[in-house]
Amino acid sequence: MNEAITPLKTEIALIGGGPVGALLACVLAQRGFSVDVFERRPDLRTTDGTGGRSINLALSTRGLTTLKFVGLEEEVLKLAIAMRGRMIHAPSGELAFQQYGKNDSEYINSISRSALNQLLLDHAEKSGKVRLHFKQKALSANIANNSVRILDDEAKQTLEWTAKLLIGCDGSASAVRNQMHSDGLSETREDVLDYGYKELTLPAGPDNSFQIEKNALHIWPRGTFMLIALPNLDGSFTCTLFLPFKGENGFENLKTPDTVLAFFDKHFKDAKQLLPDLAKDFFDNPTGHMSTVKCQPWNVDGRVLLLGDAAHAIVPFFGQGMNCGFEDVMVFEQCIAGRNENDKLEWDEIFNDFVSKRKVNTDAIADLAVENFIEMRDKVANTQFMLERAVEKRLQTAFPGEFFSRYRLVTFTNVPYSFAQAAGKVTDEILKELCSQINDPAQVDMKLAERLIKERLAPMLKRQPELAEVL
Ligand code: FAD
Repeated sequence: MNEAITPLKTEIALIGGGPVGALLACVLAQRGFSVDVFERRPDLRTTDGTGGRSINLALSTRGLTTLKFVGLEEEVLKLAIAMRGRMIHAPSGELAFQQYGKNDSEYINSISRSALNQLLLDHAEKSGKVRLHFKQKALSANIANNSVRILDDEAKQTLEWTAKLLIGCDGSASAVRNQMHSDGLSETREDVLDYGYKELTLPAGPDNSFQIEKNALHIWPRGTFMLIALPNLDGSFTCTLFLPFKGENGFENLKTPDTVLAFFDKHFKDAKQLLPDLAKDFFDNPTGHMSTVKCQPWNVDGRVLLLGDAAHAIVPFFGQGMNCGFEDVMVFEQCIAGRNENDKLEWDEIFNDFVSKRKVNTDAIADLAVENFIEMRDKVANTQFMLERAVEKRLQTAFPGEFFSRYRLVTFTNVPYSFAQAAGKVTDEILKELCSQINDPAQVDMKLAERLIKERLAPMLKRQPELAEVL
């Protein structure tokens, strides 16, 4: 290893070439800025960093809005599979489908994380304004003089890049955020979930056929734990098992192939038949950890800024982490665009404006994501929950401009997350009131429903400009 440190300069040093960093690079390039992206991993367009596994994500309206802005929406959607609702797998093997949106036009998209990331990196590079540096890990930053020390794993040397702007898109364990924290410039709080996750592969059937419903997000809810599966283009599904670390149904009790097979036999019998490599996958694949990270502030003056998971990692149960990071990019772009083009860009004003617009909303989705975990693993199979969802569907059809479920507001619109959270509390109250005396959605008192919606919800929704196009 060469001990000398090579000094270099750039306009914008962006740490992390994951989905959010790559998309931000596209947007900054579109605005004419020169960007150097430093990514610790090898280039995933030429090396397979997935270990052969296909990891997929649910992409929805907020993410698509920013992708459309950079002209990539159509190309991305060609790589995706529509998931129109949840397919609930009961312990008996019985199936129940719960539609996500008001009709077939509202769905979420299952997409390979790697394919999406590759497309974004390609687009960034094609702009001619973005230089991508792989196998370059940010080790530390000198926040006072906007410099970052990078270990170049290829040349085996340490580089010191000084930039006008230093942007951390380096994920939930962000080195940039950690530096800000240890320099006393930002406070970080991390709430680690006492659950872990394990990815498993449900392979395609003959001729790349889908062995379970293709256009759904499958859930096997089991009270304190669950299994989910999202479809891939090749006919396979990526399953994720969420379990507590400790306790009877926890990872601590699944230490041998036999215990894993017996556990699946007991709780996920139908899935087990479709998982030929279950025990191998279980022990080959790492157990993932999940946490909510909240930090404040996300910036140091107009010089250093955090975006995406680096600023606000959330647990994955609303399918919004990446969508939220993509929305960060859109709001950041709007904060730049909101400044007079002829004025000198005042980055401290732009950063402060961005953080004040986003923080309240990323805090809201962080809390909603934790709440949704309980809903997915437990409530989706509960009779009262199913009744409320059925009534919710009736109300959405009967009052299309006046009734929106929280899920629809989060997933299919661009209203601020904090608004979706507040409106969701009102819809919950309305549904509880309407369902308290009934056991069949057909029995719902539609006159009372209309009055409650008009009094409590419609006035809130009318104040949201983002809803104008959906209403
Ligand atoms: P990351 O994806 O973490 O990317 C950070 C990048 O920075 C990486 O490429 C990393 O290699 C690089 N990096 C890290 N440290 C350094 C360093 N020191 N120097 C240089 N480079 C560095 N979100 C959704 O929207 N929908 C979903 O369905 C969904 N499902 C999920 C399921 C699971 C099990 C999990 C764990 C998350 C899920 N998420 C989902 C969340 C989503 O994965 C993240 O929100 C998203 O990846 C964040 O993107 P990012 O670019 O900010 O961070």
